[in-house]
Amino acid sequence: MDNQYKIEVTDLHKSYGDNEVLKGISLQVKPSEVVCMIGPSGSGKSTFLRCLNKLEAPDSGHIIIDGYDIADPKTNIDLVRQNIGMVFQHFNLFPNMSVLENITLAPVQLKKMTKEEAKTAALKYLEMVGLSDKADANPTSLSGGQKQRVAIARALAMKPDVMLFDEPTSALDPEMVGDVLEVMQELAREGMTMVIVTHEMGFAKRVADRVIFFHDGVIREEGTPEEIFDHPQHPDTQNFLEKVL
Ligand code: ADP
Ligand code: MG
Repeated sequence: MDNQYKIEVTDLHKSYGDNEVLKGISLQVKPSEVVCMIGPSGSGKSTFLRCLNKLEAPDSGHIIIDGYDIADPKTNIDLVRQNIGMVFQHFNLFPNMSVLENITLAPVQLKKMTKEEAKTAALKYLEMVGLSDKADANPTSLSGGQKQRVAIARALAMKPDVMLFDEPTSALDPEMVGDVLEVMQELAREGMTMVIVTHEMGFAKRVADRVIFFHDGVIREEGTPEEIFDHPQHPDTQNFLEKVL
């Protein structure tokens, strides 16, 4: 099969009890595309991202990542997940290991790399996120912004094809936000395929190829940053942007 898309989601539905959270989401993401998802709290953005690597099981619909249907029981979800990096609001670094060990753990355990290869890769990604001098530090000694950059390096160390970000800067002190966004912008420049849930409208405007406005479990509107931020068509989009801009 010839795959034009890295991610192809068709008519995704997900409920929690009576609460229908995703009401038929369809989205295609091309290689190297950067998609920013915005929308009110509770609109289903996190649930959608979690479905993409099967942290949540959808009720219906299809999700094809790199050509693999992740709902198909025959698909080895662990292998697919190894190619999807995920960065959350909270970084969940292991406090009893050094920064370097945090980054090398998964690639070595999952036998993607030898210890030496993993270390070389880890140092490369630490340099990319501006933390070369912190390899031997304990995560508890780092600031929130530094921890989040380590979390990004850790995700990159698996050499993922796709990176998913769920509000990576919203738990950070304001002065830490810029450094993390800069790393993400650099990744975009290098051609990483990314889906990013964010409240940072300036970042979305600068970096996104496409902006998706989520509202009440549906994609209410999508377009280029210019279309969404400067000429929103739907009243829900206009309302939301009036509140956050
Ligand atoms: P967003 O990320 O846009 O704020 P979420 O995807 O977190 O939205 O949540 C969408 C809705 O799903 C909310 O009403 C939330 O309460 C509900 N929800 C999310 N996760 C769960 C869960 N594990 N169990 C029950 N309800 C959930
Ligand atoms: Mg969320």
